[in-house]
Amino acid sequence: MATHATSPSQVPVGVDPTRPSIARVYGGFLGGKDVYDVDRQIMAKISAAVPEAVDIARGNRGFLNRACRFLTQTNIPQFLDCGSGLPTAENTHQIVQRHNDEARVVYVDNDPVVLAHGRALLEDNVRVRMVGADIFEPRQVLENEIVRSVLDFSEPLVLLQVGTLHHVTDDTKAPAIMREYVDALPSGSYVVFSHFVDPETPELTPIAKRIEHILVNGPIGAGRFRTRDEIAAMLAGLELVAPNAQDPPGLSVCDAWWPDGPRLGGLSGAAQCIIGGVGRKP
Ligand code: SAM
Repeated sequence: MATHATSPSQVPVGVDPTRPSIARVYGGFLGGKDVYDVDRQIMAKISAAVPEAVDIARGNRGFLNRACRFLTQTNIPQFLDCGSGLPTAENTHQIVQRHNDEARVVYVDNDPVVLAHGRALLEDNVRVRMVGADIFEPRQVLENEIVRSVLDFSEPLVLLQVGTLHHVTDDTKAPAIMREYVDALPSGSYVVFSHFVDPETPELTPIAKRIEHILVNGPIGAGRFRTRDEIAAMLAGLELVAPNAQDPPGLSVCDAWWPDGPRLGGLSGAAQCIIGGVGRKP
């Protein structure tokens, strides 16, 4: 599905190949091939600053996949995946439709390469749609005609905001955006959420700060590593599920959220710089 896209003739209409995109940089760390030279330069800069930075992307995507699998148990048949990213090996609709082939999924993103690949991938799937909108303007998404035609907001649904809100630099705006989405959900809905975190330890904070510096001050322009308390505040009012058998309900490092199995060795410092959780709206 993905193609090598490094020469201008392969660049989709509407894409500026001289500007890096967070969707392509993230996709590149996940092993995708839709990466331009400008994206590779950012990836190289991040990897030079934090060699195990790839663990952030892998940890985040693994969490998204496990959370979707977990939520199939609720039998909720509708999913709104905001900032869905480039199609990768396992996408939300593939996971949830394996359990219920009638599950409906709307993906929303504003990256033209994501939209082009998403639409191509979904051509034959009548229950899945790809919408182009600004997810940080919740009304654009919540009032979108396609979103409203596929999803029924009078019944519980699953909202995914996975690896998205850290791209809102304004510390007041980010929680306000999340609040608007959660307010629009009916009772019994679930939220899947992850965010870059500053682990607030002398060993790990410098890792978060090095990546944040490159993202915020470079051409990507956004990527905040907030504290756990700041992130938890974005999920206020939700009943979080326990992230594993030992810990109480709450957020956890993405890789530690119901991992698939035992782990050889500990988590890298970078892996501990992204946390996630799943919450139910009472
Ligand atoms: N949610 C996916 C995941 O966790 O694997 C992808 C996360 S990726 C780090 C962030 C995604 O958000 C990118 O695909 C990017 O294009 C999208 N994005 C960033 N800002 C956006 C905006 N204002 N509106 C819509 N999508 C946006």
